[in-house]
Amino acid sequence: MPTLDSIKGTVEILDKYRFNFQKRFGQNFLIDAHILDKIVTGADVNENDCVLEIGPGIGTMTQYLAERARHVIAVEIDKALIPILGDTLSSYDNVTVINDDILKVDINALVKEYNDSKPIKVVANLPYYITTPIIMGLFEADVPIDSITIMIQKEVADRMQVGPGTKDYGALSLAVQFYSKPEVIAYVSPDCFIPKPNVGSAVIRLKRYAKAPVDVNNKDFMFKLVRAAFNQRRKTLVNSIGNAGIGISKEKILEALNQMELNESIRGEKLSLEEFARLSNILEG
Ligand code: SAM
Repeated sequence: MPTLDSIKGTVEILDKYRFNFQKRFGQNFLIDAHILDKIVTGADVNENDCVLEIGPGIGTMTQYLAERARHVIAVEIDKALIPILGDTLSSYDNVTVINDDILKVDINALVKEYNDSKPIKVVANLPYYITTPIIMGLFEADVPIDSITIMIQKEVADRMQVGPGTKDYGALSLAVQFYSKPEVIAYVSPDCFIPKPNVGSAVIRLKRYAKAPVDVNNKDFMFKLVRAAFNQRRKTLVNSIGNAGIGISKEKILEALNQMELNESIRGEKLSLEEFARLSNILEG
């Protein structure tokens, strides 16, 4: 039975271990049972699943996950939390706690060891300071993943979902939408955490595509173009890509835009994922 999903249960355990919050690790612990239930239900965790939890904290969500999953791997960077997790998770025999930095862990090796390299579900209330590197790391390392269900900063969740022509549209939107179908499950108030974060939060589920939604011959090259386009988003595509030092001449870009029947002064922020894929296939050829 989960025991920490309230302010009372959380403060009791924090006091018992005289725990000091580390701002540098983005520690905001969930204290709202309703939201915890929403995350785990939204992630559709069931008894066949192996779940990777990034940053279990004192184990609040880990208890919810352990109740439903076959196995939970929880990777926590803060060594002060390890004895607390030993205590709060003592009645579960299906949880493995690893004291490490998620950005340094070989996740593919963990998936092999605990799930025979079959797709896992990632569920986390993420440390907001490294949201993007964590998600991009999971996608780019080709970790076998069914879905990623995460609490992140509301603005970042919005950026993941939008399409061309909006101010929030950028490299992150394109990367997330290339690998997965994003869907916001809930918006969450700062009152649901201790300490309260100074930004709004959202729970988003990224359902991994089995096959990319666009045909691109070389995705690494396409993302080079995307990064070049958004590094200088106020410039035209011809200038941003042409000046990026990736060996593509302005003439070649103009030719490609003409072939695609796009305006020569178009900016990257107007191109859809499909158009970036097409541009990439033309320029690479
Ligand atoms: N899951 C807990 C909850 O919902 O109450 C805690 C969430 S808190 C927002 C983020 C957690 O990630 C903290 O426990 C923090 O120590 C941990 N963390 C921060 N950076 C990390 C990293 N690089 N690798 C693994 N864990 C990290």
